[in-house]
Amino acid sequence: MSTGDEDRPPPDWATCARAPGCIGIPVGSTDGCFAHLGDDERDRFLGGLVPGADIDMRGTALTRILVDQLFDAVRNTDIGRPHVGHANFDRVLFADDIVIERTAFGHGASFRGATFTHPVRLTANAFTGPALFDDAAFDHDVEMSGDTFGGDVTFRDARFGGQAPFSDVDFSGNVQLAGRGGLQRSVHHMR
Ligand SMILES: [Zn+2]
Repeated sequence: MSTGDEDRPPPDWATCARAPGCIGIPVGSTDGCFAHLGDDERDRFLGGLVPGADIDMRGTALTRILVDQLFDAVRNTDIGRPHVGHANFDRVLFADDIVIERTAFGHGASFRGATFTHPVRLTANAFTGPALFDDAAFDHDVEMSGDTFGGDVTFRDARFGGQAPFSDVDFSGNVQLAGRGGLQRSVHHMR
């Protein structure tokens, strides 16, 4: 585990009132983060999401089921792909194998300080705007393939505990891979 949360500054957002120490941002009109909502509350929150909606999950501990529910809720049924506006997953704890694929991120995505405790697969996603993975910790393998990054992509001080292959990834902005561990290089316009 590499959450290292004890070394971090307190979050600069209001935090969940449902569980001691939870730094998840409350969602909707509740005082709980997405992970600590009751079933009815969660259904209501998900029902209020539409394709193109912003998603703000800062500090929340997300299982694979919760991640899948989020992206399903913003699925554009015409094209069969999830469509998020701005995605904020800063300091999110991804506590399962995570698969995020074929998703359009229309207004940038931020995973700064996020922790992935299990393998993560980010494939065939389209990022418009910046994609920030600074200080993220990938404890296991991360697979990125077929993704399109239209803006700057940064992995400053990201940590890679496993393999991090980038295959068939289209970067059109600047890319900074300054991770500790597996990646020590800078790539520009890599295809
Ligand atoms: Zn919570």
